[in-house]
Amino acid sequence: MTEPTNFIENIIHEDLESGKITALQTRFPPEPNGYLHVGHAKSMCINFGTAKKYGGKCNLFFDDTNPSKEKTEFVEAIKEDINWLGFSWAEIHYASDFFPTIYELAVKLIKEGKAYVSDETAEEIRMRRGTLTEPGEESPFRNRSVEENLTLFEEMKAGKYADGEKVLRAKIDMASPNINMRDPVIYRILRATHHRTGDTWCIYPMYDYAHPICDAMQGVTHSLCTLEFEDHRPLYNWVTENCGFEKRPRQIEFARLNIENTMMSKRYLKKMVEENFVEGWSDPRMPTLSGIRNRGIPPEALIDFCERVGVCKANSEVEAGYLDAVVRDYLNVHADRAMVVKNPLKVKLLGAEAQTLAFEYNPGNPEKGTREISFSDEIYIDADDFSLNPPPKYHRLKKDGYVRLKNAYIIKYEDVVLDAEGNPVELVCSVVPGSKSGSDESGIKCKGVIQWVDAKTCVDMKLRTYRSLLLPAEYAGQDFSERLNKESMTETVCKAEAYLSTVAEGERFQLMRMGYYKKATDKDGTPLLSEIVSLKDNFNAKK
Ligand code: ATP
Ligand code: MG
Repeated sequence: MTEPTNFIENIIHEDLESGKITALQTRFPPEPNGYLHVGHAKSMCINFGTAKKYGGKCNLFFDDTNPSKEKTEFVEAIKEDINWLGFSWAEIHYASDFFPTIYELAVKLIKEGKAYVSDETAEEIRMRRGTLTEPGEESPFRNRSVEENLTLFEEMKAGKYADGEKVLRAKIDMASPNINMRDPVIYRILRATHHRTGDTWCIYPMYDYAHPICDAMQGVTHSLCTLEFEDHRPLYNWVTENCGFEKRPRQIEFARLNIENTMMSKRYLKKMVEENFVEGWSDPRMPTLSGIRNRGIPPEALIDFCERVGVCKANSEVEAGYLDAVVRDYLNVHADRAMVVKNPLKVKLLGAEAQTLAFEYNPGNPEKGTREISFSDEIYIDADDFSLNPPPKYHRLKKDGYVRLKNAYIIKYEDVVLDAEGNPVELVCSVVPGSKSGSDESGIKCKGVIQWVDAKTCVDMKLRTYRSLLLPAEYAGQDFSERLNKESMTETVCKAEAYLSTVAEGERFQLMRMGYYKKATDKDGTPLLSEIVSLKDNFNAKK
């Protein structure tokens, strides 16, 4: 059998070895109240990944017990995200499909004296709940007769009472040291149109009661959830036991994924969308899976990230730049190279012959070979790669200096044209004879290598870069609205190799000395180079 590599797999391995279960079954249980985020990718890797590893199956389970917040749009988006990550579910189930059974099981609990209808308000229930050190107080409705409870619950379902007027509570133990066991509410009255069951129901089961039933009904063997449900486990077990399930799933909790300076809650992400701080859930700056997909991050890199973070039992926070670092590692091998110039400075080249040069697609993948790029007596280099007053150890172009043009020739400074303020507007350089890359016989040692484009064939292209949506708390204060980075998206027009106008949308490149970008199309239909991740760690550089 496959060797376990984390504590969840240890448990599963044991349960399979001991014959406690014959086949593993898990489920990925999103609530369709928003788009999935990077934290959900971790949960998917654990649920789908572990099932696959142990030859079991994983269902997609929509936990739709809060009708006021859930929508079909979210159901569809969630499916798309799962497919994008390359996972496939065995079956799809919805908590709402089980509503009739969940209701029947509540009737059974009432008949066995294990649930009662209470007229208390939410506030009254809270007041009587007790504290961690003091037991709770019994509800005045706790000892209603079975017949009365059956009638009242039936009437709740039939719509006789207003929202919040009555609830159904499990009758467990008001003195339990675990507050979740102090007669938790298991059904509430709520008039909200459900995205699947419409107005069929005006009572809805609570998560803690519905979830274990749905797990058991599906045949889930291991119900994997995040750490905040640890204290709910006794209730989970109480429900499956008292509802009479023979095969009872085992709940195991793992630590949530938290990333420094990253919103990881649908509630906040929703606020970003609703208050128009971003252009929808799939904005490339959002940590949603659709945002990450739009950004151009490959699913393989995201899965690699989740695997490298690992599965553990204690909450912790991953450093902000870590996902970027994993993405860079992946793209370094998988993305072809190309050149653009962001702040163009024209260079006239003396002694240059118009020609095509061979440009390697990707040094990490030499089998792919080379493509042709054009070279002539007029090129653009980046204005930042020339300095009139260079600092010490400046290896790019300076007065009377040399620099190598990537994949082309070494050039030598000859002259500069300045504007009225003394800023360079054009350079004149000469091509060093015999200095062609790959067959350099010039004997000139040249430390600096810079990117360039042929001025005669290059195209203007929009270039968009992204920075974190949130400023780090230490500079901007703790409040979310104060931390919004107003410069999270910047746009400029660059001079790009003509090649970049011919490549397909979605192709990813390392734009040399700048970062990884993908070819995209802007809303107005114009081509765009959109940043996936910079070459350097901007977050930690704290600019
Ligand atoms: P949110 O607060 O963003 O709404 P949630 O936990 O309420 O998150 P669900 O849709 O209920 O979102 O989550 C589906 C599954 O994904 C659950 O099992 C949940 O525990 C898991 N999950 C959610 N966020 C994370 C995270 N940051 N790290 C790991 N797993 C997560
Ligand atoms: Mg939730």
